[in-house]
Formats: sequence, C-alpha cells, structure tokens
Amino acid sequence: MTITPITVLQESDLRDKKVLIRVDFNVQVYEGRILDDLRIRKTLETIVYVRGKGAKVILVSHNESKDGTGLLPVCEYINEMYKNECGQVTFISDFMAESTKETIASMNSGDVILFENLRVLPGEKANDVEFSKYLASLADLYVNDAFAVSHRKHASVVGVPALFPGKKYAGIQLMKEVDALKKALKPSHPFIFILGGAKFETKLPLIQKFSETADMIFLGGALLNDVLKAKGFDVGMSLVSAGEFDLSGVISNPKVLIPTDVVVERGGQAVIVPVNEVLTNDAIMDVGPSFTSMLKQHAESSQFILWNGPMGNYEKGYKDQTIGMAKVVFESKAQALLGGGDTTAAIKELGYEEKESEHVFISTGGGAMLEFLQYETLPGILALE
Ligand code: ADP
Ligand code: MG
Repeated sequence: MTITPITVLQESDLRDKKVLIRVDFNVQVYEGRILDDLRIRKTLETIVYVRGKGAKVILVSHNESKDGTGLLPVCEYINEMYKNECGQVTFISDFMAESTKETIASMNSGDVILFENLRVLPGEKANDVEFSKYLASLADLYVNDAFAVSHRKHASVVGVPALFPGKKYAGIQLMKEVDALKKALKPSHPFIFILGGAKFETKLPLIQKFSETADMIFLGGALLNDVLKAKGFDVGMSLVSAGEFDLSGVISNPKVLIPTDVVVERGGQAVIVPVNEVLTNDAIMDVGPSFTSMLKQHAESSQFILWNGPMGNYEKGYKDQTIGMAKVVFESKAQALLGGGDTTAAIKELGYEEKESEHVFISTGGGAMLEFLQYETLPGILALE
C-alpha cells in the first residue's frame, strides 16, 4: 500500500475545494513569542501548493506550549511573517460553533483559516468518532502534513482520514520525511548511528534494531551514564535512567562506542576527566572532546549517519560536543539524517536550515522519527493508505 502525495492533484481537482490540512504547529511559545518556527516553515510549501491551485484551506493542529496560550500567537505570527505564503489567516477559537460552518461556507478560493488547538477538546486525543465526523464534515479533502504527530492515534491523525476514502493525501513535508527516513531503513555503508539524549527504556530497542544495520553506534548523552554505571564505574551525581535494565548486550556489543573522557560539573565548573575518574560529587554533563575527534575520524569515510539525541545537557549550556559533532556531520560527505525536538534545539545556533542540503535532512519529529525507524511506518501514515 502506498500513500498519495497532494501534488498529484492539479488545479482542476483543487479549485474551490475545502482542504483540511493537519499541520503540526506545536511550536514553543514563550511569553507570546514563537521560539522556533521550524515546523511552521516546513509546512508552508504544502499550504502554498494547495492555495496556488485555488483551494480553500482549513488548518488544524495541536499546541502544547508551556505557557498555554494555544494557537492564537501562532496565527498572529504567521500573519506577520508569512503573509506572502498564507495570505491573511483567519483564526477560529470556537471551531465547534455553528458560526464556524458559516465562516467556512463564505470562504473564497485561496483563503486560509486556522482552528484553535484541537486538544482543548477531549475528542482529539481520545480519537472520538463524533469529533472526527464533525471535522470531516467541514471539508472535501484531507491532507496530513504533520509528520511529528503521526505516531499518535488521535482524531485528526487517524480518525478523520478514515472518513475520507480516496480523498486523503500526504503533504509535501510528510512525503519528504517518509522518503528521507526510508533511506535509513536501507542505509549505505559504512553507516554510523549516533544516539544520545535520555531515557534508556525508550532507546534500548533502537540500539538492538540498529545493531543489525549500523557499523558503529556512538553512544552519548545521559544514556552513557547508564552504560558507565553498568560497567561498574562511579557516575557520581549524573542523571541515570529509572528502573532496571539489562545492558549486558550493549556493553558487550563491539559496535557500541563510548567516549574515553567526559565533561563533569565539579564545584560549579566544567572539567574534562577520563571516564574512570568521575568523583562521587561530580555529574557527567557532556561527552568529552575525544568523542568528537573519534567521530571525525570515522565520519570522513562513512556513507550514512543517523543521529537522535543530544550528547549532553544542552539546556544547562553543555552543548559543545553536540555542536562539534553536528559540524563534523554537516562537513562530512555522508548522507545524514538528524531528528528530535531536543536535538534540533541543541544545534539551532548553527542555523540548521542552511545546513540542510542534498546530503543532510533534519526531521521535525522526535518520537515520530524514532517510531518510524522502529516500526517502518506510523499510525498517521497507515491512515493515509
Ligand atoms: P530528542 O528530543 O532529540 O529526541 P531526548 O528527549 O531523548 O532527545 O533527550 C534530550 C534530553 O537529554 C535533554 O533534556 C538533555 O538535557 C538530556 N541529556 C543529554 N545528556 C545529558 C546528561 N549527560 N545529563 C543530563 N541530561 C542529559
Ligand atoms: Mg526530547
């Protein structure tokens, strides 16, 4: 089974059609400001495409920004920044109101409206049938361009497309994500897998899976602390994963590479020490520079690099090796795929979009990227088949 890209539809198919597009505008909003609009920017291409063919566009999304302002600031931001692409976007806060139907009925070709955060109503997360039916009743066609939420079995991701047989399409960004991630399922060799971040329980299956295909696994981030602990080293006050795991398979795996030195926080200072010299009051905050050098040495001859998870606690400023390793990846000739909300946030200062090229792809998805790599599809993609 395959999914159909929206780009198969031409003007005669789209003119005056109402197109419901599930986008992922779950961007961080802080004090009313958009901190990182990567996900918005990456959806513009689809919006421009369907508007350009004369459709009427209904954008739906969730937003879980910590300041709880919902999507109004996002709408205002789009109207300020992306008027050329989206026109004047109308915001609808009560999308269940009777007047919403009237607003939609009076839309002209090329108009765009954005609904408030779908998750304000329980039907979205519960994948409620009546809620899906309501959303579906508003449009003629359905498009999913929200890769980063496609691992969720929510109404707008799986329930609504089920109600559009023969009329559901993949957005341009979703297609790009799927195509790029498929390459990671059949990578060229030598293939380096870089895994960092936290929560071993969520990442252990990936180590097992990529042990089969990757030639080397560079393991950093807080995951490293668990490995060092399992090897019998003192990790002091470092963050370790909760619960019990059997890491013997990771430790004995000759493909798994760990740093020989780490950056610890000691008395408020960053100190580089060998992994066997971490003191009881130290906390490991980053991999050491020798790990970046090791990556550089291997990246030069590698064909494919896949990366999820920062190497250190970047929020607290321990991002030197993550940035250093990202530069190594960008400068290599390998085909590279990077993803994860924290991973992209950690390297934001590199201006990652300029780094994107023929050989580098940056995924908008964190959880979605990992699940795709593990299961080779996602609920939201299956729903389009
Ligand atoms: P992503 O969102 O890119 O998938 P994760 O969510 O798995 O990445 O992990 C990111 C988190 O891991 C960040 O909050 C980061 O601070 C944390 N982290 C990485 N290395 C360390 C470390 N040595 N100590 C504490 N936290 C760490
Ligand atoms: Mg994360």
